[in-house]
Amino acid sequence: MDRHLPQPTPETRHFWEGCKAGELRLQRCTACRQAYFPPRPFCPACASREVEVFPASGKASLYSYVINHRPRPDMGSEPHSIAVVTLEEGPRMMTNIVGCPQTPEALALDMPLEVTFQSFSDEISLPFFQPAKG
Ligand SMILES: [Zn+2]
Repeated sequence: MDRHLPQPTPETRHFWEGCKAGELRLQRCTACRQAYFPPRPFCPACASREVEVFPASGKASLYSYVINHRPRPDMGSEPHSIAVVTLEEGPRMMTNIVGCPQTPEALALDMPLEVTFQSFSDEISLPFFQPAKG
C-alpha cells in the first residue's frame, strides 16, 4: 500500500520504536505526573522538562469517530473509521478502529478497545485500536 507514513524525528523516535516492538509508549511528567501524547520534550501541563517514557497499557475507550465513506486512495476502497480514543492513562489519540464492522451499530461510544499494530515499513508500524477481547 502506498500510504503516506510518518517520519520519526528525535522527539518521536521512542514512540515509533515502541510501535515497532508492539508497545504503545507515552511520556509522563515526573514533576506533576501528567501522562501525555503526542511526544514532546516538555510537559504540556506544567512545562517541566523532567519527563520520562513509559509503556502504556494499550487499553482505551472510544471517545468519538466519523466513518469515512470516501477514503483517500492510499487508505483502500472500503469505508473506515477515523476515531479519537481516550487512553487508559488519560491522553487522547487519533487512530482508526479495526477488527469490527465500520458501522455506527458496531462502533459504540465508550466501548473498550485495545491497541494493535500494523507494520507499513521497516521503520513504521502504526497503532490502531480494536474492540477489547473479553
Ligand atoms: Zn508536568
